[in-house]
Amino acid sequence: MARADEGTVGVAQADQGSAVIPCLQPLSNLYFQATNPMTKNAPSTPRPIVIFDTTLRDGEQSPGASMNLAEKMELAHALVELGVDVIEAGFPIASPGDFEAVREIARNIHGSTICGLARCREADIRRAWEAVQYAERPRIHVFLATSAIHREHKLRMGKDEIIERAIAGVKQARGFCPDVEFSPEDASRTEADFLCRVVEAAIDAGATTVNIPDTVGYATPTHMGNVIQTLRNRVPNIDRAIISVHCHNDLGMAVANSLMAIEAGAGQVECTINGLGERAGNCSLEEVAMALRTRGDYYQAATRINTQRLVPTSRLVANITGIQVQRNKAIVGQNAFAHEAGIHQDGMLKERTTYEIMRPEDVGFSMSDLVLGKHSGRAALIDRAKAMGYNIVGEQIDTVFEQFKILADKKKAIYDADIAALIEQQIHTIAERWTLDSYKVICGTGQVPEVTLRLRHGDEKQTVSIAGGDGPIDAIFLAIEQVTGFTVICRDFHVHSVTVGKDAQGEVMVQVEHDGQVYRGRAVSTDSVEASAKAFLNAINRIVSVSSEEKGET
Ligand SMILES: [Zn+2]
Repeated sequence: MARADEGTVGVAQADQGSAVIPCLQPLSNLYFQATNPMTKNAPSTPRPIVIFDTTLRDGEQSPGASMNLAEKMELAHALVELGVDVIEAGFPIASPGDFEAVREIARNIHGSTICGLARCREADIRRAWEAVQYAERPRIHVFLATSAIHREHKLRMGKDEIIERAIAGVKQARGFCPDVEFSPEDASRTEADFLCRVVEAAIDAGATTVNIPDTVGYATPTHMGNVIQTLRNRVPNIDRAIISVHCHNDLGMAVANSLMAIEAGAGQVECTINGLGERAGNCSLEEVAMALRTRGDYYQAATRINTQRLVPTSRLVANITGIQVQRNKAIVGQNAFAHEAGIHQDGMLKERTTYEIMRPEDVGFSMSDLVLGKHSGRAALIDRAKAMGYNIVGEQIDTVFEQFKILADKKKAIYDADIAALIEQQIHTIAERWTLDSYKVICGTGQVPEVTLRLRHGDEKQTVSIAGGDGPIDAIFLAIEQVTGFTVICRDFHVHSVTVGKDAQGEVMVQVEHDGQVYRGRAVSTDSVEASAKAFLNAINRIVSVSSEEKGET
């Protein structure tokens, strides 16, 4: 979003669609007191906006972002702490793993509504209910495409048939649970008349939320505002449901489109942490939440988001998925609050608000990076872990503390990022079948690398010695492939340092392809060759756990 003094002009003009922007008085002489037509005569209490997080469902659909059960549970805990109202935990019929994740989240996560996605089919809806039924507040989310292009090419159904299917799906879901959301997929490209008919029918059949998806990221802010306005004007029973939006970011407008929908009367926003999601991703939760908070004067709407949890949750998602946010990402990027340009810095020193519309502490950037060391105790470690958004319990605490002590012997200062790396490793290692016992590499200029590698698989140890590869890391990867019997294509390989200093830990991320699927691997160590080996093994372990899940072994 633009700064306060510029933003309001943009919004005011957006209302007039493509009208030519009239020449305004110089901005420097004006302070725009924005008036939102929706809230002109609104009472002083802000309108509540439901935050529906779909990081675990839509976010997980971005390539390489798939999460295991432990990772999903960790994230679900963090989402409750963040204050999201609804967690879309997955698509239960998609796979046994998806089903199990939604069911476990429904059983164990308290404080948010837990939602499961279903196509408008009997088996899907039943399966979704079987997974979410354990939740304190369960929701079934039924979707069916409505645009002409989807009707003709994907569903091969006429308009009347679509309406019948929608009614039947919503009624079936309502038979299970009182909280039912209906989405006409590709709504933003659906003819207005037909969209109004579908929405009216879905509400009549019992839908309590109607979600308007911009599935392909085609809408513009004015377009999205008009769609919501049209529904409010023309659907007679619209007051019986909450209007929701689900915007994709293909044209970089997901947040703007969602805000315009709120302005036009939507009461729920579907979004993801870091804007994760298919293709260019979804509406970013942190951006929409901070826009509503920072511009509360204009939107007169509020969320339950505990904004100080935004940065920790963003980091958790980046660590779990291996998809880092860019430095200049709004709200949570490393540079989002770095006022380094000389002219700005001068203003900042005199008065912060000259250039700052939000305070870093409001979104959870910690002002001081607390440093732990060799003599720090268990309680201090647990405290830091909690502050960073981790929910470590029981045995996990013991293991992390043990590893913390080992690390503290190797390096003097232990930073938050180090602790995060240790905990992450713990979460990731839960399903590790293969682990690294030891390695030795001999390499040098003009020499073929020689590797001796010992891996552990259960109680067994297997050793291999090979000569080959383009360098020490390539040679280790070849040796791992030989021992485990998995051949993969390495798609991506990154090493970066977790913190500062010569003794910093190296974090390695790999992406490998196996049978057309992409798997991630991640590991940290003060030895970056060892971290590479462990990251590669972590990816192999993911392949093992997915193939055993498909065979029904877990
Ligand atoms: Zn989506």
